Amino acid sequence: MSPDKPTIDPVQLVNLDQLRVIHFPHPVLMAQCGEVTRVDAQLRDWISQMQALVAQNEGLGLAANQVGLPYRIFVTQDEVYINPVVKNMTGGWTEHPEGCLSLPGVYINVKRHKKVKLQAYNLQGEEINVTVSGMKARVVQHEVDHLNGLMFFNRVDPDLYMNLGMVAKIGVLEDDFAKLLASGDYDVQAEMEQQMQLRLARTDWKPDETKSTPDESAEEPAAEEVEVLVP
Ligand SMILES: [Zn+2]
Repeated sequence: MSPDKPTIDPVQLVNLDQLRVIHFPHPVLMAQCGEVTRVDAQLRDWISQMQALVAQNEGLGLAANQVGLPYRIFVTQDEVYINPVVKNMTGGWTEHPEGCLSLPGVYINVKRHKKVKLQAYNLQGEEINVTVSGMKARVVQHEVDHLNGLMFFNRVDPDLYMNLGMVAKIGVLEDDFAKLLASGDYDVQAEMEQQMQLRLARTDWKPDETKSTPDESAEEPAAEEVEVLVP
């Protein structure tokens, strides 16, 4: 390893009061996200924070697990895609340099499909069907990969990957994270528990039409809550 000072910020931990972009190799980035069945005021607030982060970082998109939310949602500065599903990818391949807010300073050529047909839901729980191409198609593929726990370098040929000087940059981040774990300042167990609770709160929820017995824990959907269908 180079004795040079790290040029990349150390890993940032999940902060649900004020969302921030989590850096590789935090485990939330490798997790499979869950489909949202409920949009509530809290989720809407988080989504607007995510959009502010995209703008602030001059990014093109951001996936929910990049801020520590285990949901199948990604945003651009002015769009929200809930439970996105890629229906098909056409038009051949195109290669272009790609970056990621969770891996600052790393840019590599990634092959992506030129055209993507995407189904998703908006904040109102309405279905969206779009076909995108060009940079937008690249963004969609990159963000949907995040929701499946894949980073963009997972799409690069391993030989090429070794030659890009990326290994050193990623090594710095991995060293930072290992130091953090060793320091005891990061409670992995607590974070995993929190992730599970977050996930259950909005992915297992169903509008309750059958249950008639009073249940303290049963949530009466507030007017501001919107049911989202899972494709
Ligand atoms: Zn990314």
